[in-house]
Amino acid sequence: MATQAPRTAATMPQDRLGRPLRDLRLSVIEACNFRCGYCMPEGREVEDEALGAQRRLTFEQMETLVRGFVRTGVRKLRLTGGEPLLRRHLPDLVARLAAIEGLEDVAMTTNGTLLRGQAAALRQAGLGRITVSLDALDPELFHRLSGGRGEVAQVLDGIAAAEEAGFGPLKINCVVQRGVNEDQVLPLLAHFRGSGHVVRFIEYMDVGTCNGWRRDDAVASAELRDRIDARWPLRALAPAYRGEVAERYAFADGTGEVGFVSSISQPFCGDCHRARVSADGRLFTCLFAADGTSLMEALEQGEQAVSERVAALWSRRADRYSELRGERARVGGRHVEMYLIGG
Ligand code: SAM
Ligand code: SF4
Ligand code: SF4
Repeated sequence: MATQAPRTAATMPQDRLGRPLRDLRLSVIEACNFRCGYCMPEGREVEDEALGAQRRLTFEQMETLVRGFVRTGVRKLRLTGGEPLLRRHLPDLVARLAAIEGLEDVAMTTNGTLLRGQAAALRQAGLGRITVSLDALDPELFHRLSGGRGEVAQVLDGIAAAEEAGFGPLKINCVVQRGVNEDQVLPLLAHFRGSGHVVRFIEYMDVGTCNGWRRDDAVASAELRDRIDARWPLRALAPAYRGEVAERYAFADGTGEVGFVSSISQPFCGDCHRARVSADGRLFTCLFAADGTSLMEALEQGEQAVSERVAALWSRRADRYSELRGERARVGGRHVEMYLIGG
C-alpha cells in the first residue's frame, strides 16, 4: 500500500475547541513497584480486566503508534506508566522512538527507584529528559507514602545516577496532600535549590476512582507559593512556551526556580494539547475520561491508519473536565485510573 505524505501544519486536526494535538503520553506498563495512596492504593490495583503483560503493546507496535501520532501533529512524547522502568528492555524502545523524524522531545516520568541501573543506557538510547516523582524527603514518610515499598535514599541515588549519565536538570514532581506531606515543601526546596533541578508542586487531583479524593485534601498552589515566598522571595516568570502546564517562579536570590501545577485551582483545559495512550493501546483524550478507544485495529494496518483514526477521534474531542469541575467536589462518573495513563 502506498504511504501517504505526512500532514502539513494546515491539515493537522484540531478538536472541537480549536486545540491541536501536540503532546503524547504513552504508558509502557500498567504495573508499579509502589502503591501510592493517591494513584494505586494497595489492594485496589487490578480493577481493569484488560490489564496484564499479554495485553501490552510490543515495542514494534509502540513505534508504529508513535509514528502515527507524529503524522497527526505530535512533537513531544513522554513515556510513563505504572512505573516505566519496570518495562523490560526500555532503552531499546527509547532508541526506536528517539529516531522518529519529527519528534522533538522524548521524556520520561518515573518514581526513580530503578534509575541507578538504567540511566546511562536510557541516555545513550536518546532519552532527552527525566521527571522524577518525589513527595517527601523524610525517609519514614516517604516509605509510608509509597505504600511501604520505597526508600527515599534510593530515589535520591537515582537522581544522582541521572546526573552522572549526563541528563540535564531534572524536574522533581511533588503531589501535595493537606496534612500529609505539606511539611515537606520547604525541605524539598532547601534540598534542591541551587542544584539546577526544578521542584514542581502538583495539586492533588481527583483522577481515577480508587483514591477517595476530597477537595479539602488538595492544597492550592497560591497557598504554597505564599508560604515559599515568605521563606525565599519569589519572582514570577513568563511561560517557557504556550500550553506549559506549570506556572514558574524564580527564587529572587538566583538559586533556581520552582513550578506549580494547579489543575484544581486554575484549570488549563483551554491549552490542553495532550493525548494519552494506555499500555494496551487505548486512546484517552482527557486525564479524567471514563473510557479509552482502542487503536489496535488501526495499529494492525500501520502508521497511516493510526494517524487517520487518531485525527478522527481528536476532531470529535470536547473535553474540559477540570474547567467543568468548578465549584462541585467532583463532576461525577467513573474516571480512568492514573496508573493506566500515567499522569
Ligand atoms: N510511576 C511514575 C511516577 O510516579 O512518576 C509514573 C506514573 S505516575 C501515575 C505519574 C505522575 O502522576 C506522578 O508524578 C504522580 O505523582 C502523579 N499522580 C498520580 N496520582 C495523582 C493524583 N491523584 N493527583 C496528582 N498527581 C498524581
Ligand atoms: Fe506507581 Fe507512580 Fe502511581 Fe505511585 S504515582 S503508584 S509510583 S504509578
Ligand atoms: Fe486536558 Fe482534560 Fe486536564 Fe482539561 S481536564 S487539562 S482537557 S486532561
